[in-house]
Amino acid sequence: MLHKFTGLIIGVALAGVAFSAAAQQNPDDIQVKADHVRGNIYVILGTGSGNIGISAGEDGIFLIDDQFAPLSDKIRAAVAEISDQPIRFLINTHYHGDHTGGNENFGKAGTLIMAHDNVRQRLAAPANGDPKPRDALPVITYNDQASLHINGDDARAVHMANAHTDGDTIIHFKNANVIHMGDIFFRDLYPFIDVAGGGNVDGVIMAAERVLEHANADTIIIPGHGPVATPDDLRRYRDMLADTRAKIAALIEKGMSEDEVAAAGPTADYDENWNWQFINGERYTRSLYQSLKK
Ligand SMILES: [Zn+2]
Ligand SMILES: [Zn+2]
Repeated sequence: MLHKFTGLIIGVALAGVAFSAAAQQNPDDIQVKADHVRGNIYVILGTGSGNIGISAGEDGIFLIDDQFAPLSDKIRAAVAEISDQPIRFLINTHYHGDHTGGNENFGKAGTLIMAHDNVRQRLAAPANGDPKPRDALPVITYNDQASLHINGDDARAVHMANAHTDGDTIIHFKNANVIHMGDIFFRDLYPFIDVAGGGNVDGVIMAAERVLEHANADTIIIPGHGPVATPDDLRRYRDMLADTRAKIAALIEKGMSEDEVAAAGPTADYDENWNWQFINGERYTRSLYQSLKK
């Protein structure tokens, strides 16, 4: 399970510092194609960037997330393979660059961008770096939820408080029975929890619980990173989160510092299967420590 994202580009802000992989992949070498999920829902799996959800139909294209800016033309071409309709709507699941990097390109071309209030705020006035241009900012924002009645489905976009960040949205296509979870769900990978960006492990666990309550055995779940998943995959992730959270909370209870907790290796049982290029057991442990200390 190591190096699932070889050549990964990651545009997240970790400990407040945006970083990209040493082995940054040339966007020209990245293949972008839309895979059918169910009904009129498709997915473009990210290569070092977030997974894009697509609703395609007679009302137009609705995208969930848009990866990095250099990929916008390839994303358009992949969408054109499945539909000749314009890309009318775009929701950002959160503010990270591997999910919002294409906003300016799509916004300029007339796509209506939507997101939680805090996403617009963090793009307009980032803690690090320059404010994003006007065309890159969500035009419609919401503080709780929004519904899109499009392509024969009722898509509900629901804010999940303080999970991966402070502006996460999951999108539930009720008729297709497909849920896009953004980076609240890293399939079979330790999640990156952006504590500096308002994220918290408890919010990730709560969001996973809420999705599981609304899912049934046939629900298809699109994670922020990793292949398309089932509720059992999400359950396994939730269980890993809950177990490691409990172990780390017990060490904090003993009065241990962050370094002492990290040195104790509370995630040892999971590291082999859940470590990946950027988030290993130690980094994940530190994010839980910081979450629980908040
Ligand atoms: Zn991501
Ligand atoms: Zn993210």
